[in-house]
Amino acid sequence: MRRDRLEKNNENREKSKETEKREIESKGKKTRWSCAGMGRVIATKYGEDSGGWCTRVVRGTHGCGLWKNIRKGAGNFFSHVVYEVGEGNRIRFWHDPWSGPTPLKELYLELFACVVVKEALISDMLIFAPDGGGRSWNFRFRRNFNEGELRRFYSFYGHVSARNPSEEGEDILSWQLNCNGVFDVRSFYIALLKAPSVSFPWQSIWCVKVPKRISFFLWIAARGGILTIDNLVKKTLPLVNWCCLCGCDEETVDHLLIHCKFASALWSEVLSMFGVQWVMSDTIVSLLFAWRNWLGTYSSKVWNLVPACLMWLVWKERNARTFEDVESPIDKLKTLLARTLFE
Ligand SMILES: [Zn+2]
Repeated sequence: MRRDRLEKNNENREKSKETEKREIESKGKKTRWSCAGMGRVIATKYGEDSGGWCTRVVRGTHGCGLWKNIRKGAGNFFSHVVYEVGEGNRIRFWHDPWSGPTPLKELYLELFACVVVKEALISDMLIFAPDGGGRSWNFRFRRNFNEGELRRFYSFYGHVSARNPSEEGEDILSWQLNCNGVFDVRSFYIALLKAPSVSFPWQSIWCVKVPKRISFFLWIAARGGILTIDNLVKKTLPLVNWCCLCGCDEETVDHLLIHCKFASALWSEVLSMFGVQWVMSDTIVSLLFAWRNWLGTYSSKVWNLVPACLMWLVWKERNARTFEDVESPIDKLKTLLARTLFE
């Protein structure tokens, strides 16, 4: 009798364990389903970017904006991701960085400006020989190239041909902060903590005593937005990219205001005025970060004016040469810069 009861108790316990297990599994399935379901709801509401890796940028002003704010972190997220090409039907040929860390549209600006289908996927760019004789790239440009562009095209062709996609399996994103390539919140959280809290040198721009239009110019320049030829080409204007100040390089914001021979002569002049040895930074943002208060908080009053005054002077000279065909000799600009800073 006692034995029967014990066996029955054991049986009941087993049953309740089994029920508990089923409930946990059911909850797990429901959670997974609700996450996937939530993803579908968000994708339906906001639309998906090409490839379906992410929703489109949220522009609406109504609602609580939760997803709008989460979506703002997409740039940071994708900076830790590598695109591994399979069939190539989810990766954009020009926009996604599948052939290296920089997207092809940035590596080959002039060619991208002439592309017919800018949003094309990698699979759209490949054609197959009808007799099974393999596949080849099918690039479509709006016009024939000039000599300089043709050289760039050969370089581009070599770059792309060396990275022919495998065309097997699905396209995938590989998470770079984990050795197994799988995303986990912990590694992303650590990366976010390590990111510098101040990423823009706003003090070097807005706390300097120069006219506001010059501060605005410097702000746009630091954000890479002034209308240099490379930026105009990005807006699909068919221009030949060359710097009118030195005539021997392409005109980008950093080139024009920092690295150009013409700008370098002005930077050297100003550094010799202060008796300072200085290694120029690669970008305007890093220059502004390094420059501010370098002579000390109380002795940098004039020093802090230099980037704004010098870059404004270079920009005005560039515009005078481009739009008015008027050229000032470098010595005149050196004198003008010294007078602006010290008078
Ligand atoms: Zn130049």
